[in-house]
Amino acid sequence: MFGSGVVVDPDRWHEFEAGWRCPAGSALCVVAPRNVEELRSVVRRCVADRLTMVPQGALTGLVGAGVPDDVATMVVVSTYRLKAIRHFSSCDGIIIAESGARLSDINALGQPHGLMLGIDLGADPSIGGMVSTNTGGSRLVRYGGMRQHLLGTQVVLADADATLITHLPKVRKDNSRIGWSQLVAGAGGAFGFISAASIALDPVPVQQATALIALESLGALPALIGRLRKECGELLTACEGMSANAVEAVVRHRNDIRQPFSSGVSNYMVLIELSTSIGTDFLDLDALLHSKLASILEDAALAIVDIVAMHPEKAWALRHAISAALVRDGEVIGLDISLPLEQLPEFRERWKAKLAAEVPWTILCDFGHCGDGGLHFNLVCLDSGMSSEQSLKIRHIREMISSEVSALGGSFSAEHGLGPANAEIYSALTPVREQQFVSAIKSLIDPHKLLSRALPA
Ligand SMILES: Cc1cc2nc3c(=O)[nH]c(=O)nc-3n(C[C@H](O)[C@H](O)[C@H](O)COP(=O)(O)OP(=O)(O)OC[C@H]3O[C@@H](n4cnc5c(N)ncnc54)[C@H](O)[C@@H]3O)c2cc1C
Repeated sequence: MFGSGVVVDPDRWHEFEAGWRCPAGSALCVVAPRNVEELRSVVRRCVADRLTMVPQGALTGLVGAGVPDDVATMVVVSTYRLKAIRHFSSCDGIIIAESGARLSDINALGQPHGLMLGIDLGADPSIGGMVSTNTGGSRLVRYGGMRQHLLGTQVVLADADATLITHLPKVRKDNSRIGWSQLVAGAGGAFGFISAASIALDPVPVQQATALIALESLGALPALIGRLRKECGELLTACEGMSANAVEAVVRHRNDIRQPFSSGVSNYMVLIELSTSIGTDFLDLDALLHSKLASILEDAALAIVDIVAMHPEKAWALRHAISAALVRDGEVIGLDISLPLEQLPEFRERWKAKLAAEVPWTILCDFGHCGDGGLHFNLVCLDSGMSSEQSLKIRHIREMISSEVSALGGSFSAEHGLGPANAEIYSALTPVREQQFVSAIKSLIDPHKLLSRALPA
């Protein structure tokens, strides 16, 4: 069906059929083209035979869109061999990479030139996957997400000829055309198979200063973040929230990570990071952070319990250890939401009480990128395996939370994008006219609806 050099050895297919936080699937075939022409011939073949294609990058997506379903009718098209760097300019700070190149590849190339892709997360995704999911990460408050870095793309359409459309500028400014690549970003592969992307890079910081702030309650969070934004401006790189339950899970499971406050784990902790590319000769970032925190501590309205300055490596080790620690405590029910900051404290307190009453067999271990209103409102199921009644209950709670955050102007999928895990919620909460609009665009790109699992079938 496909050229022999393109098909992945069937003994290895299982590696491409199972992802994070989703049931493993079963592929009709797994292919991995080595160049764009091979990719186009795979797409042509699939369109001719009306086979559904699942674009797949590093398989770190969290909504099940990168894995096939379980009936062996879908073709997984992996980009792991499609990873050439087509262009790199250190003076423009621009890289053009094929979609299978990893975030770590881009950073390794940029580092000696003082450049990086300023998106930071606990995984090493592919560029195609990052564009498709519009990856955010811990430093979005400073650098923005993937959309803000995207200058253009090259995509293969799922039409009979596998049409190739290329806009890969080597410049940061180009208003000579409609910016259609921004439509591809965040589309989960539904608006074309990305073969390459042109990306704007950021300067690598040479100084970082981090601290952990213990809050009495979350009520002061909006004021704290507003103040940090105002006083630290562009130096503020990250604000990460961590609940006591999340931090306790890390301390319980990691011998090398200690409880950060001598007074014990407080109700809610916020990791803040300042960073700059200006050297210590001109700016002492630690001293600056110290003086900002001293004045923040004096503000009674913020009800700060304690502040500790932490080495960046230790602070991030604690933050990045949360996901893995929670998995060791039980099944994680992930809710990737965002809210306007003013609404976040009240929402969290109300739902915390509601969850304790309605699903007492779970424990709320929330954390997330609170600087941008992000909240991984994760529950850990304490029972071994959920009963069907418990699953139904969780489904109902997920629907209620999703519809509430949407009504408040937030998001039921803040970072992880669209896929089988949230398809029903997407259908229920997206206005019909908007779904029709999306469908009309998709029919130009993929007339037989064969490409990607991001949108509901
Ligand atoms: C430990 C961990 C931490 C994470 N932290 C964050 C975080 O902080 N912020 C955040 O935003 N995300 C986070 N994620 C989620 C994840 O890393 C991102 O969604 C990632 O960008 C997906 O990239 P990938 O290459 O793994 O794509 P995959 O998982 O392979 O695919 C994801 C989606 O992109 C599509 N796709 C992949 N390649 C292409 C292509 N070439 N063309 C068209 N469509 C394509 C797939 O079909 C699918 O819909 C985290 C994940 C893990 C496991």
